[in-house]
Amino acid sequence: MAMIRIDGSFGEGGGQILRTSLSLSLATGKPFRIENIRAKRDRPGLLRQHLTAVLAAAEVGGAELEGATLGSPALTFAPGKVRGGEYRFAVGTAGSGTLVFQTVLPALILADSPSRIVIEGGTHNPAAPPFDFLERTFLPLVERMGPKVRVRLERYGFFPKGGGRFCAEIEPAKTLTGFHLGERGEIISCRVTGVVANLPRHIAQREVETVARLLNWGRECLTIEETRNSPGPGNVVMIEIASDEVTEIFSAFGKLGVPAETVASHAASEAREYLASRAVAGEHLADQLLLPLALAGGGSFTATKINRHAHTNMAVIAQFLPVHFETRKEDSFIRVWVAEGTGKPSGT
Ligand code: ATP
Repeated sequence: MAMIRIDGSFGEGGGQILRTSLSLSLATGKPFRIENIRAKRDRPGLLRQHLTAVLAAAEVGGAELEGATLGSPALTFAPGKVRGGEYRFAVGTAGSGTLVFQTVLPALILADSPSRIVIEGGTHNPAAPPFDFLERTFLPLVERMGPKVRVRLERYGFFPKGGGRFCAEIEPAKTLTGFHLGERGEIISCRVTGVVANLPRHIAQREVETVARLLNWGRECLTIEETRNSPGPGNVVMIEIASDEVTEIFSAFGKLGVPAETVASHAASEAREYLASRAVAGEHLADQLLLPLALAGGGSFTATKINRHAHTNMAVIAQFLPVHFETRKEDSFIRVWVAEGTGKPSGT
C-alpha cells in the first residue's frame, strides 16, 4: 500500500498531526511517514507523551516502526491488524494519558472484539482534555455513533508529578453512524467544580466563587473536591454546562504564582463565550469531533470557533480518508460539515 507522507511542521505544527495520523493509520490500515514532528514547538520531536502514543498505537495495530525514540523528528508507521484486548499504557511522566487514549480509541471502537485499557500518566493536564471532559463531553458523543465506551478515574495525575490512572472498557461497533447537531437546546444544568489535590481548600473555594461571580451563578452550582488520591499536588477548575445535546466542560489549571482568581477567570471567559453563542461545541470539542465524524463518513455540528488546530486536523484527516470539510459562519456560531468525497479541505 502506498505510504502517506505527512509534514509535521504544517499548520499548527504540533503533536495532533502525529496523533491523528496514528489514529487514522490504524483505522484504515494505511502506512505513513511523518517528518518534522512538532517542528513548531519549543521542544520539537517525540516527547514522552507522543512516544507513548506511538508505542500504544503500534501495540494495538501490530505495527512496524522506524524512528520511535525520544526526540525523534521522523517516524514511519506501518500497521498490521488491529486487535481489541487488554492493554496497559503508561506515559511515565505527567504527559497526558487522555491524549494517548484518544489516539488508540478510533481503531478500538471499530475493532472486532472488546477492549479493556488501563492508562497511567497525567489525567488532568493543561493543553489536553481533562479526564472529566473525556468522560462527560467527548465520549457521550462518540457513543452516539454506535460503540460503548466507559471510563473510570482511579487516581488523579497532575503536571508535573503525573502518576494518575484511569481505566476504559470499549465495546466496538461494526460501523460508526455520524450525527447532525444544530443549535444547542436549552441549558439544563450548570456546575463549577474546583479540585485540589494535596493543596489547601481555599484555592478551590476562591476559584468556584470567582466563576460564580463572573457568570452570575448561584451557590447551588458550586462544588469543591479535596483529594489526596494523587501522587503530587494539583488544581483544576472545571465549568460544566449541560444542554439537551451535549455537556461542555471548560477548564483552567492552577499554577504556582498565578492567583486562583486569575485561573478561574480564564475558564469563565471560555464559558461566557460559549453561553453567548448557540453552538453545541466549544473550540476543543469541535477539534476532537472531526476525526470520529470523518470515520463515520459524515455529519455536522455547530461550534463557537474553528481554530488553527482544527484546520490543521482537517487537512491531516483528508490525507487518510476520502472526506472533505466545510465551514460556514452563521449568526452566533460556525457550522461544520464533514462529507464523503474529496474536496478542498477548508482553511488550508
Ligand atoms: P504539542 O503540540 O506540544 O505536541 P500536544 O501534543 O499536547 O502538544 P496539541 O497539538 O496542542 O497537542 O493538542 C492538544 C489537544 O488537547 C487538542 O485535541 C485539543 O482540542 C485538546 N485540548 C486542549 N485543551 C483542552 C481543554 N481545556 N479541554 C479539552 N480539550 C483540550
